[in-house]
Formats: sequence, C-alpha cells, structure tokens
Amino acid sequence: MSAPHIPDSALATMTVHLDAISHNYQTLKAQSGSAECAAVVKANAYGLGVEHVAPALYHDAGCKIFFVANLAEAVILRSILPDAIIYVFNGAMPDQVGTLIDHNIRPVLNDLSQVETWKGRAEPCGIHIDTGINRLGLSEVETDQFFDEKPDLNVSLVMSHFIQSEIANHPSNEMQLDRFIRVRYQLPDAEGSLCNSGGIYLGTDFHFDLLRPGIMLYGGNPGLPKLPDGLKHVMELHGRILQIRHLKPGMAVGYNSQWTAAEDARVALVNVGYADGTYNTRDTRANVFVGGQVAPVVGKVSMDMIAIDISDSKFNHVTVKDEVELIGPNITLEMVAEVSTLGQYELLTGIGQRYNKNYKSGS
Ligand SMILES: *Cc1c(COP(=O)(O)O)cnc(C)c1O
Repeated sequence: MSAPHIPDSALATMTVHLDAISHNYQTLKAQSGSAECAAVVKANAYGLGVEHVAPALYHDAGCKIFFVANLAEAVILRSILPDAIIYVFNGAMPDQVGTLIDHNIRPVLNDLSQVETWKGRAEPCGIHIDTGINRLGLSEVETDQFFDEKPDLNVSLVMSHFIQSEIANHPSNEMQLDRFIRVRYQLPDAEGSLCNSGGIYLGTDFHFDLLRPGIMLYGGNPGLPKLPDGLKHVMELHGRILQIRHLKPGMAVGYNSQWTAAEDARVALVNVGYADGTYNTRDTRANVFVGGQVAPVVGKVSMDMIAIDISDSKFNHVTVKDEVELIGPNITLEMVAEVSTLGQYELLTGIGQRYNKNYKSGS
C-alpha cells in the first residue's frame, strides 16, 4: 500500500541541501593538508535525516568513515552504507558484542571493562583516552594501566574529545593536546583523532590523522564568532499561515494572554509550535520572514502554532497559506539561536518529526 498523499499546504517543510553538506565536508577536509575527514552522523545526522545525509556524504563527498553515538544508530547506518567504516562512540557492553560483529561495527572502547569485553578479538576497535573532559574515555589511571598491560586488541583508532575547542585561545585546548600527544604515539599503528568541528579551526597541530566534524557539516556554528568562510547553511524551515485575525486594541493573543494589541492589529497564526522543535515556550523574541519582511513572534508559543504580528502596512499583501521562513537565508540558524533559550546543537537535533521533508542535491 502506498502512503496516502498529504497536500503540501497541510504541513510545514524542512528543506535540506545535501550539496551544501558535501561542500562543507570538502571545506572542513581542506583545513588540513593531510588528515582524513570522517563525519559524525549521530542523532539522525543532527536531526536532518541520516538516510539521506549519510549516502550524500559517502557517494558525493567521498567520506568513508562515520561515527554514531549508539549501537542502534550504527545498525541503521550499516543498512544504509554497507561498505563504510562505522565507529560507535558508546563502545561495547558484553551483550552488544554479537551485534557489533554481525554488522561489522567498530566500538570505541571507553574504559577498562570495555577493553576486557573486546580483548582477544581480531576485529578493529577504537580507544577513547580522556584528556580532561571527564566524560567518556579511559581516565589517566586507566590509561597508564592500559599501556602497562598492553591488552591484545586490534586498535585502529586512538581518539580524545575537547572540552571547549570552539574557544580558540582557551588554555585547555593546548593542555588536552599535550596529554593526547603523550598517549597517541604509544599506539603508532592506530589513526589519531582529536578534532570535532571547533577543533579543526585550532590549526593543523591539532589534526593528527582523522577529523571528526559534526555540527559544521550541517551549517551549525559551535560558538565561534561566526560560521567560518567557505561553510554554507544547510537547512531551511518553512511554516504556513493557517489563519489571520484582526484584533482591536486591548485584545490579547494565545495562552495566558502574554501579548496584547496596543492598536488595531493583524495577527497571523503559523503552523509550527514547540512540538516542532524550533521554539521553546519562552522564545518570545523570535522573528520570522514573511512577504519579504521580518515579522515578530508575539504571545506564548503553543504546541502546534505561533502567532506573528503583521499589522504593519508592509505586510498588507500577506495572506492565508503564505509560506513563512522560520530558518533560512533571512532568518539564519545563528539568528534563531541568538534570541532562543536553545543553542544551535539543540535547535538542529530537536527538529520535530512532522515536517514535510525535502532533500535537494543540486543547487
Ligand atoms: C558529537 C561528537 C563529535 C562532533 O562534534 P561537533 O562539535 O558536532 O563537531 C566529535 N567527537 C565526539 C566524541 C562527539 O561526541
């Protein structure tokens, strides 16, 4: 049975420019003369749809190494890319070994118990050395023990992760680099990997053999002053006007009457709300772009809609069913994050499920 046809007017739309993702991959890879570049596609490729994003990276951009967070994501990715190298950051628990082997997935081992779980296997694995973030990875004590014992493993990757690589002059970056250098060369046959997106822009001293960008592939900015030159925005969101209301002075819009019309007002209801991920219920400083102009969101964000103020005469031609840009060339992801309680990582990964999804390969 084919899926029932839903007319475009019924849904908001997420547009993903796959060519921009490939372009960003090439731009990030070019920051290093020699390092290979992987792609982090965890969390459904940061909310954009791994079943479209991963093939574009593999076939169009030439990326052959991928990272995901957990085994479920890895198994899905394996069904999409039968020949890619896939690492899973969360490593290997004893009950996951069979699935890892069956699907040819490489665990990144995070502590000595995970090392114990994988010991004696010929299949490759990664080792995560914690150099200060105190999250996943072998602690200092465990790292010493690991190199004393030299367990029987086929280690193809030795990696670590930054605390705040997006702050270029933060002393912790050099401190982590020093710690990583000390361990990295004890595993000379493994590829070394330290850099997430922000790390790539710290310079080639930090690059080692393999880069691991995530958010910058998707046009996000991890907190650098701005999206670096040569990177493109990837994703657009458009809603649609459901209804237009004419309010008299003193009439209020939405739950708890948080916005009141001071004069005669024209307010449009747009078909996205906090359930669609772009807005938090407290995001009241947000703007949208409609009819060629910026319009403010007014009143409380509802689950399924927002209200926008289109009282100004410049919006006179705006009408029901018109498209409203929520994220795009005029209202960038950075601008949305700027006025939101949510950061760019949260905005991307929190995109809701009920958009009509539109994937574009050519520009
Ligand atoms: C998520 C993640 C990345 C990618 O980070 P970005 O900041 O999105 O580039 C790289 N390495 C590890 C270990 C991660 O968890």
